[in-house]
Amino acid sequence: MTTLAATLLAALPAHGLAGFLDEDGVIVHPEAVAPDVALKGEHVLIGSYAPMGERTPERAVLGASAYRHVGGVDFETLEELHRGSGDAPLAEEVARAVEAAARWFARPLPWGSRVLRASDQRFGTITGYSEDRGMVITWDRAIRPEPHRYTRAELTAPGFQVFVPVTHCSGCGHAVDDDEIEDSYTTCCNEGACTCALVNGAYECGTEAPTGDE
Ligand SMILES: [Zn+2]
Ligand SMILES: [Zn+2]
Repeated sequence: MTTLAATLLAALPAHGLAGFLDEDGVIVHPEAVAPDVALKGEHVLIGSYAPMGERTPERAVLGASAYRHVGGVDFETLEELHRGSGDAPLAEEVARAVEAAARWFARPLPWGSRVLRASDQRFGTITGYSEDRGMVITWDRAIRPEPHRYTRAELTAPGFQVFVPVTHCSGCGHAVDDDEIEDSYTTCCNEGACTCALVNGAYECGTEAPTGDE
């Protein structure tokens, strides 16, 4: 008997991915990342209303979302990657969900993301990409950028934390867009605009890239 979980797991290696069955569905991660490391970092969960451990149904609606471990048993949803409509045959639906996961893992992290390296508590900024999708990090106070290109798997494993930068008003605290800032002051409060890291839904001032004039 082939189960839905087995069908999903069998579709992963062709995309350089691996996975395992968890209570909520199939946890998907790059082949090069160990399962326990994947659970403590970024991973994709493919779930379904159809039972994963029973005979593969003819049709199933699959959902795939990217998650990040934020401590203990808590996970933060990063992005919904796929939501099936129920109109596709199972093989096609499985392919769509797995391809969505593969695209997520192949995508570089956003330019300007702040990276915290646990080994020395040093912050850096993603300032470039190389052709093989490696990411160049310029470490704060570094005299010149490190030549090492980091892969997405490296930066999303324990040992690194990645924060997507967000700009907010230091007066009222709301996130502001470029057109709500004039000469680095916000149009809502005429206070400084701070571009720092969004960590678990809260701004973490002090994580911003140092300005050149310090
Ligand atoms: Zn404001
Ligand atoms: Zn801030």
